[in-house]
Amino acid sequence: MIEIKNLSKVFRTEEVETKALSNITLKVNQGDFVSIMGPSGSGKSTLLNILGLLDSADSGSYQLVNKEMVGLKEKDRSKARKENIGFIFQNFNLIDELSVYDNIELPLIYNKVSAVARKRKIEVIANKLGISHRLKHFPQQLSGGQQQRVAVARALINDPLLILADEPTGNLDSKSGNEVIELLMDLHANGATIIMVTHSEHDASFSQRTILMKDGEIVLEKNNSRNFDVL
Ligand code: ADP
Ligand code: ADP
Repeated sequence: MIEIKNLSKVFRTEEVETKALSNITLKVNQGDFVSIMGPSGSGKSTLLNILGLLDSADSGSYQLVNKEMVGLKEKDRSKARKENIGFIFQNFNLIDELSVYDNIELPLIYNKVSAVARKRKIEVIANKLGISHRLKHFPQQLSGGQQQRVAVARALINDPLLILADEPTGNLDSKSGNEVIELLMDLHANGATIIMVTHSEHDASFSQRTILMKDGEIVLEKNNSRNFDVL
């Protein structure tokens, strides 16, 4: 589903030039659950931002379901992002001024889903994630774990091809964090394709495959075999 070849990205400021990604090559199949680890500054966020079409690479190739993403115009990239990608962030990135319902509804409005279908979809997903009784609340009235559930609902509402999670448990206590990992595992068991950046070995161990980055390169890939009952 994802095929990346020789992908590179340089950030230039007035004084410095930083090679954030150097010749990354990576394949992700549909239904994979991949974790990305590595020290701060190793290029994890840059890679996730490019995968998620928030940013563009300078050179190389990124094919998402056989379509080339490198060199797309911002407008087309943004369209492809809204159609295909669901994001889950460390700090939830919910809009505090909007109710839970309205936060989850936003991607549906972008994608011009009818009002009747929007209401039905939101009810179904809220039920699935156990937040039905929270739809009228505002993000600040919820615990971190509940806010992340809302963020997951928003990420999933358009049935995205790809789910990207940037340290999804980073701001959660271990119980809520484990619940979020369980949620991702559930999604994975149901066929979702997930790529997750994490600093947590524990979280990474629940993915199928871990990629280790250093200085903008992939330096190690390992398969995680694991008894999935132990969380
Ligand atoms: P990680 O997510 O692993 O911490 P990043 O992808 O955020 O790493 O950063 C990789 C390198 O690129 C770092 O040296 C970082 O300072 C640099 N970098 C990232 N984004 C920018 C940017 N927008 N402008 C300049 N340098 C950047
Ligand atoms: P994390 O530690 O969660 O990976 P970072 O602090 O590395 O987050 O990066 C947060 C955001 O800031 C990213 O979108 C990244 O592109 C940007 N960024 C990182 N380093 C720099 C930098 N040196 N200059 C400008 N932006 C940066």
